[in-house]
Formats: sequence, structure tokens, C-alpha cells
Amino acid sequence: MKVAKFGGSSVANAEQLKKVAEIIQADSERRVIVVSAPGKRSAADIKVTDLLIKLGQSFMENKNYHDDLNQVLVRFKSIIDDLGLSDQVLKYLKATVKSIFAGDGELDFKLESIKALGEDSLAQLLSEYLSSLGLKARYLNPRDAGLILSDEPGGAQILDESLAELYKLRDYKEIVVIPGFFGYTKEGKLVTFSRGGSDITGSIVAAGVQADLYENFTDVDSVYCVNPTIVNQPKEITALTYKEMRELSYAGFSVFHAEALIPAVRAEIPVCIKNTNNPTGLGTIIVSKKEVNGNPIVGIASDKGFMSLYVSKYLMNREVGFGRRLLNILEDEGISYEHTPSGIDDLSVILRTEQMDEVKEKIIIDRIQTELKPDQVHTQRGLALIMIVGEGMHSQIGTAAKAAKALQDANVNIEMINQGSSEVSLMFGIKEEAEEEAVKSLYHAFFN
Ligand code: ASP
Repeated sequence: MKVAKFGGSSVANAEQLKKVAEIIQADSERRVIVVSAPGKRSAADIKVTDLLIKLGQSFMENKNYHDDLNQVLVRFKSIIDDLGLSDQVLKYLKATVKSIFAGDGELDFKLESIKALGEDSLAQLLSEYLSSLGLKARYLNPRDAGLILSDEPGGAQILDESLAELYKLRDYKEIVVIPGFFGYTKEGKLVTFSRGGSDITGSIVAAGVQADLYENFTDVDSVYCVNPTIVNQPKEITALTYKEMRELSYAGFSVFHAEALIPAVRAEIPVCIKNTNNPTGLGTIIVSKKEVNGNPIVGIASDKGFMSLYVSKYLMNREVGFGRRLLNILEDEGISYEHTPSGIDDLSVILRTEQMDEVKEKIIIDRIQTELKPDQVHTQRGLALIMIVGEGMHSQIGTAAKAAKALQDANVNIEMINQGSSEVSLMFGIKEEAEEEAVKSLYHAFFN
């Protein structure tokens, strides 16, 4: 049994939905389908979810929201007309928006219900379309499917009891179409995951039904081993482990929503990323274990927007609790950290810059100075992190040497190096402006 999830670009218009239906028809094991809301049809287009968020804002600000609603209706009407379906979904949309706004729930939850309407309507529409093609299909609301979530609007988490409920989806004889991106709290309030969260629904449902495969259909043939906007036509990755995917997505690979893999990983469900526009292509498979043949490195990821906080103090290594007190200051100020490379008398804490404006930086530096009495404390902004990722690395001599040589060839100064003891990745901190050159040179060293 397979769970197939189709992302926003795969359901953006009627033409794409026809491809989706063909994919579902092509394999009778595709029995549970999870869908996003219609995404962009072109670079300048607006996602339906964004239109719905705007609709909610207009309501909140007491503005006339009819134009906003109309834009949503127009998107769905064009799909309905092109597929020759009834106007049932349009009626549903109008009536639901009206009843959500007229109801007396909390504003937060009203906005959540509006935001989820893209997925909800599309799932109904797809199930109607599949039925019109003679397939036995039915729409299933996430409440009836058993998606029970925590009470955190816009950032809900799955509750453990959901999995047993979801297992019952195996009993349906029809193809079940479930909208992604939202579920319900125990009290029955609709809540959404964070943006892009249909991937989370897909992964949870796959874990719940204990699928043999979770297929995630998007608009790329596979995951590339490096960012294709930096290196032209890079090699494709055919197989990745969960750990490798996590390391790559941490530093800029945006194939998957960061949280999305967790349920599939825990249940050890293989995940396959495929292209709706080329469904017979191999895609990229993500599994718990794989053979390493040849290249120990699967990919190179990079991301900008980091800074370091450098603290040094003579005899720091003998001062009990120094690191804890430093991290405590960051905790008090609500800052999370990424890495802490250290020496005997110094410690750098690497952070995402967006968390630390100038005011917060001053507060933190002042506290470090008074509470820890260091010899030096300063920050460096404008760092990029480059991760070289591959499970095969731990049995291979010379990977770090090869990477350092590639950076030398590109004339890039290494500000920091970090290798976790799991040896799945090797990380280099460099100046942001050197990112592209560094990535290109590393790609040539490891993949050409
Ligand atoms: N439609 C939602 C969003 O745009 C969720 C998703 O597409 O995964 O964030």
C-alpha cells in the first residue's frame, strides 16, 4: 500500500490534476492520497493559501473581503470548468467562509479554518474528479481520518493517539483523498501545521497506515546533490538516508518541510520524491540504510544568514560551568544555537542571525562581560555554512583533506570547521560572499 502526496504545483490547475489522476490510476497500490492547496501556476502567480490568508486578514481588519474570496473562487472555478465538474466545491467554499465568519469561535481558530480551505476544497474536487473517471474514490476530512493535533494554531504537532486511528484507513475499499496541512484538536478545533505542512500530513498518514512507500510528488525529477542555481545541471541523488536528508535540508535543501520526515523516519517508511511531470522517472528514494558505493559524499548544501559569538578566557577549560552559564544567557534571551565549536580557552556559538538584532546583541554581550568576565567577546555576522554530507564518510580517509583543498583552490578562507561524531557531515563556516565559489569548487572536487 502506498501513500501519495501531491504538492501545490502538482494541483495548481486542471492540466496538472489530469496528470495526478493518471498517476493514481497507474498503480492500484496508491490508495491514500494527500493533497496541498493549488500552488503557483507561474512565477508571478499567488498560492491559494496566500489568497486565503489575505481573505482572513481583510476580515480581521473589518475590510470588505469579497474581492479576496472572489479570487479564490475564480481559481477553483477555472479548474472545475476545465475538468467538467459540478459547482459543488464553489458552493461549499462560499457557505463555509460565511459560516466561519458568522460563528462565535476565537479569531485565531477562525483564521485557521479559512487558511485550510485550499486543501479542503481541493481534496473534495479531486475525489469528485476521480469518481468522474470511474474510479472508486472518496474525500475524507482529517477529523474522520483521525488527525488529532496539539492546540497550537499555525504550528500544531501530531498527538500519539492519531497513529492508531489512521491505521483504520487501511479498511477503506475506495481510494481515500485527504486534505493536507491541517487536523483537529481533541476539543474539535481546526488547527494547521506550519507553512508547507501538507508534507507533514503525508508523512504522518504514511506512518499511520504503515505504508510500504510514501511517495511525495513535486515538480523536480529528484533531489540534486547541490543547489542547481549554483551549479548548472548537477548530478541527481538516487538514494539518500534519512540522516543525510536531515543534514542536507538543515543547510538549505528545501525539498522537504523540515519536520515532515520525522513520522516516516520513526515508522521506517521509505520515502520517494517524484516528479508529477515525469512520474516514470526514478526519483530519489530516502531510506534508513543504504549501500555506499563509490563516492562517500551524497550532497553539498549551503546556507547564508549565520553569525558567530566568540568568547575567550584564559584557562576557560578549567572553569567549571563556563559553557553552561554562557548558554544560559542565550536561553534567557530566547536564542537557540546551531553549533558550538570550541578550543581550550575559547568557545564560538553559531546562531542564525535573524534571531539577534543589534539591541539583543548588546544585552547579551553586556551580560557575558559582567557575568563571565571573559578576556574577549565579539560577534561576526555574515557567515555561510557549507555542509558536505554522506554516511560513507566515516570509513573514508581524506574527505576533510579533499574538501579543504577544494576551498583552498577557490581561495576561500575557512573560518570554522565542525565534524559531528556521527561523521555524517563535515561543516565549514566561511564568509557569505565566498559561498558560491566554495560550493562550485567542492562540487568539482567530489562529483566531477
Ligand atoms: N498550502 C499550504 C502552504 O502553502 C501547505 C502546503 O502546501 O504544504 O503552506
